[in-house]
Amino acid sequence: MTRDEFDRQRAIAAGAEKWQSRLLAAIVVPLGFAQLFFIKWLDTHAASTKRLKIEGALFLAYMALVIFLIWRMVSAVKKMRPTCPKCRAALKGMSERMAVATGKCDHCGAELFS
Ligand SMILES: [Zn+2]
Repeated sequence: MTRDEFDRQRAIAAGAEKWQSRLLAAIVVPLGFAQLFFIKWLDTHAASTKRLKIEGALFLAYMALVIFLIWRMVSAVKKMRPTCPKCRAALKGMSERMAVATGKCDHCGAELFS
């Protein structure tokens, strides 16, 4: 891997992370508000015991969706991050900064750039 390829891959991962987090917000925030409006509507249209079951199921479904979307986002970005060609360690966070500064993997010490 050359330094240019490494920089390009970092930029792709950063762009994907930005795009994925915007998509996540665009789905999660409106659904959160829709849930609140539905609960408000349900307060006047359903009996309290039935209402609690519906609200609980709705909340659990919403949380499952949020967790799934976050997992999907994290795994998509992880696949795009540069990795060490020798030990396959993901070069993110401090490892990424060390790779930029030294040109070496901070896990195994391998030279990253040819
Ligand atoms: Zn390594």
